[in-house]
Amino acid sequence: MQNSLQEALLQWRTTIGPDHVATDIVTLVAAQTATFATGIQVPAILYPSSTEEVAKCLRIASEHRIPIYPVSTGKNWGNGSRVPASQGCVILDLSRMNRIIDFNEELAYAAVEPGVTSRQMSAFLRAQNSRLRVSKNGTSPDASLIGNALERGDGGGLYGERVDYVCGLEVVLPTGEIIHTGFQRFPDARCKYLSRAGLGPGFDGLFFQSNLGVVTQMTLWLEPIPRFERRIVFAADKLDRMEKVIDQLRVLKMNNLIHSISIWNNFKVLSRVTQYSKQHRVAAWIGQCRISASSRIQSWSQKRLVMRALLPFVTRIGSVRYGDEPDENGNLQIAYWRKRTPMPNNPNPDQDGCGLIWCMPLVPFRGEDAGVAIKLMEEIASKHHFEPNLAVLGTEQRTLRLVGGIIYDREVESEDEKAMRCHDEMLQALIGEGFHPYRLGIQSMHAALSKLDATGDVWARIKSALDPEQVLAPGRYVLKR
Ligand SMILES: Cc1cc2nc3c(=O)[nH]c(=O)nc-3n(C[C@H](O)[C@H](O)[C@H](O)COP(=O)(O)OP(=O)(O)OC[C@H]3O[C@@H](n4cnc5c(N)ncnc54)[C@H](O)[C@@H]3O)c2cc1C
Repeated sequence: MQNSLQEALLQWRTTIGPDHVATDIVTLVAAQTATFATGIQVPAILYPSSTEEVAKCLRIASEHRIPIYPVSTGKNWGNGSRVPASQGCVILDLSRMNRIIDFNEELAYAAVEPGVTSRQMSAFLRAQNSRLRVSKNGTSPDASLIGNALERGDGGGLYGERVDYVCGLEVVLPTGEIIHTGFQRFPDARCKYLSRAGLGPGFDGLFFQSNLGVVTQMTLWLEPIPRFERRIVFAADKLDRMEKVIDQLRVLKMNNLIHSISIWNNFKVLSRVTQYSKQHRVAAWIGQCRISASSRIQSWSQKRLVMRALLPFVTRIGSVRYGDEPDENGNLQIAYWRKRTPMPNNPNPDQDGCGLIWCMPLVPFRGEDAGVAIKLMEEIASKHHFEPNLAVLGTEQRTLRLVGGIIYDREVESEDEKAMRCHDEMLQALIGEGFHPYRLGIQSMHAALSKLDATGDVWARIKSALDPEQVLAPGRYVLKR
């Protein structure tokens, strides 16, 4: 392995230039550091600048059987950051590939490379005087749009379920072959940026939450900015009241009256604005949703319908005009909840010793189900002496995403082990109740294993066909070991 690694490094240096292959200890230690302990070692980082370079890098990796782990901007904080899912992987960092390849205002799309960030996209749209927007979310505006979509990440706005609003993937397979999904395989197709399905079998799904290919381009559909948009904010003093609110929200969401549903418990709210203290008090649950309308009268009547539905169950409710969120790092404050020093101006949870592990189950969009899962998460967090930090997100009509953060200070002795025990117990208990996770980190990849039917075997055959040397992101969302 050592000899093949040295030979591969020589070839990578020749292919992408010696300045774009990092092996120095400081860079490697930084890349091995996540918001929890991993013990994973990284021998090198490659920074290709084009699809062709990615293809060559992968061919070299396959030839020498060196495992390789792609990241776009590597800000997968709470799920492993840049750290690979298994030992000895060379990181393929795609942040230099940051071109907006195509943009169309009328048909509302942009085709981008993996290094394009939310901040870059927003600035680009502003510069075009565009009437379109990209879905924003709670992480840093310097995170990758493609990296987030590939993890089936979520955001705000009508296109918050990001994966439903992308098409036309360009993918480099571990063999170095390049494929395109949908109509992208017909370069002259007029609908190549517009249709997800294309013609014949659809391949897109193979490359989300998977280790089958490196995505080097994706088309994002952009949302026309609504003429009238309001945020409705509400509070409930007890979980059983919020459960009733959730049932109302489902009906409103199914009728397309609201979007961007997000409900936070008191610890989540506190951690967004301050750091740990026993003194603070806020209402038990605070939620918000948005309405979009094309006229004032439509907005007004939608608002009335929503307020009327929620009013019997909330302690407070109000509405404000929604203005675009600034591109700032404010939400990262959450990761600094247990730190004894304030969040720096240029936050980096990995390097700042923040402890954060996500546990992310999917539950039916029903108050009763959400209540069972929330109580379980609260009980287990408290049992391990962590504040339950919970968000409930409604990006779909039939399911809710629960986002549980186990937040701690990595600089406090033995907290790493304690937090991981808490995470493991929480994940197991949730799965035991039928609340499987919708997204995994390197700490929880075993939850994707398929044991009962032939799914795992079929997946393994697909993996062998696309990645015969088994070099791409071993351990990431594997359905069979
Ligand atoms: C306070 C806080 C709030 C957050 N809020 C949100 C939120 O609201 N919504 C949300 O979704 N997430 C959220 N996150 C989680 C995370 O920060 C984001 O999901 C972030 O977008 C992921 O990082 P990235 O975009 O740099 O992706 P990366 O880290 O680059 O990619 C994620 C993973 O996808 C794979 N991958 C990446 N690029 C490629 C590629 N081109 N080809 C093949 N595989 C690839 C890799 O395995 C990689 O590890 C939050 C995190 C924190 C700390």
